[in-house]
Amino acid sequence: MDYEVLIVGGGIVGSLLACLLGQTGRRVALIETQRPTALAPPPAFELRVSALNRASQQALQQVGAWPEMMAQRLAPYASMVVWDATGRGEIRFDAADLGETELGHIVENKVIQHALLALIERAANIDLLCPAQLATYDVSAQGVQLSLRDGRTLRAQLLVGADGAHSSVRAQANIAWRREDYGQKGLVCVAKTSSAHQATAWQRFMPTGPLAFLPLADPNYCSIVWSLPADRADVLLQQQAAAFHQSLSEALDYRLGEVLESGPRAAFILQGARAEHYAQEQVVLVGDAAHTIHPLAGQGVNLGIRDVLELSTQLADLPATELGNLATLRRYERARKGDNMLTLKAMEGLAFLFGNRQPVLKFARNEGLALLNHLPLLKQALARQAMGV
Ligand SMILES: Cc1cc2nc3c(=O)[nH]c(=O)nc-3n(C[C@H](O)[C@H](O)[C@H](O)COP(=O)(O)OP(=O)(O)OC[C@H]3O[C@@H](n4cnc5c(N)ncnc54)[C@H](O)[C@@H]3O)c2cc1C
Repeated sequence: MDYEVLIVGGGIVGSLLACLLGQTGRRVALIETQRPTALAPPPAFELRVSALNRASQQALQQVGAWPEMMAQRLAPYASMVVWDATGRGEIRFDAADLGETELGHIVENKVIQHALLALIERAANIDLLCPAQLATYDVSAQGVQLSLRDGRTLRAQLLVGADGAHSSVRAQANIAWRREDYGQKGLVCVAKTSSAHQATAWQRFMPTGPLAFLPLADPNYCSIVWSLPADRADVLLQQQAAAFHQSLSEALDYRLGEVLESGPRAAFILQGARAEHYAQEQVVLVGDAAHTIHPLAGQGVNLGIRDVLELSTQLADLPATELGNLATLRRYERARKGDNMLTLKAMEGLAFLFGNRQPVLKFARNEGLALLNHLPLLKQALARQAMGV
């Protein structure tokens, strides 16, 4: 089977790239091990959610996925409140101050994937191979030849690794993966609170790590992302429901009243990692296959989306024979590496700053947050940066 581009990994990032390339007429195959299961009706919200910023929303609108996402469910948030558990530092961002209706949207990952896969299945020039799994690939002057575990063979000019943090495309390309283990886990679950979330994203920084309550498409349900020392996360995973609800309510300082109910809990090891290179002759990495960051500012998917926007721009108008050209792929790498690295370091800096118990730092961050809250121009600039506009 001959294509112009093979994409391994049909997560949000790989699926969006398939749509972007498909719209320019490329012959694309998207290889994915498993389809997302059907969405359960509310209040059975999914564990994995993304805080999509405006730039990501525009990319999903550009390929035509947004109307389908709205028809399923998503939650716009108009405000964000961030505060320090150790002092008086607090900052509030409001979309209205920017003349906007929302700062972003909290969307279950599965909603985004379903919308993108529906578009892919309608596109005559994109083949979705699912379930299918990459086995091996070879690169030669003629292009890339890829074997699937079921024995099928595919050929193309370019292979894209969008297969997540444990990327086998990256491993087979022998690209080094520099990893920083934060010694923390991200505990995720869905919780029902006694007070409504007010379309606001709530985040409390504690010395042990940040806790976020992200509003869902029901006024009393939030998606929880709680970064904690790994051993503490393991204890909370096992807690009885009543004790866990008490821990969660206390940790958010009762800003949304009591936690009344919660769904299944899961925990992910938190690591910051980056591939030494994003590109080799005829092979390129995007999204979590190229970089992962601390989830404290919910920027992971947004960075991956920026990757595929840049890559599809670089590949536009190229003859098929030049798609795997290293010079082109390096241009993509140069355009994205700085931004990804800066965000990775900024997240590590924030985690360090807020996780530090030194009195001087504690004083500085609390005074800094309080001061920033009264500097509208700087605050608006920060909010626009986070929105990706
Ligand atoms: C606790 C936690 C909370 C987070 N919260 C947020 C948030 O609020 N906002 C945000 O923007 N980001 C968040 N992130 C990060 C975000 O989830 C990731 O950045 C994002 O999912 C990466 O997308 P991706 O498509 O690159 O990779 P993935 O989502 O990992 O997708 C990779 C795909 O490749 C497939 N695959 C893997 N290997 C193969 C193979 N050999 N053959 C075929 N297919 C294969 C997999 O099945 C999968 O579907 C969070 C992360 C964590 C850990």
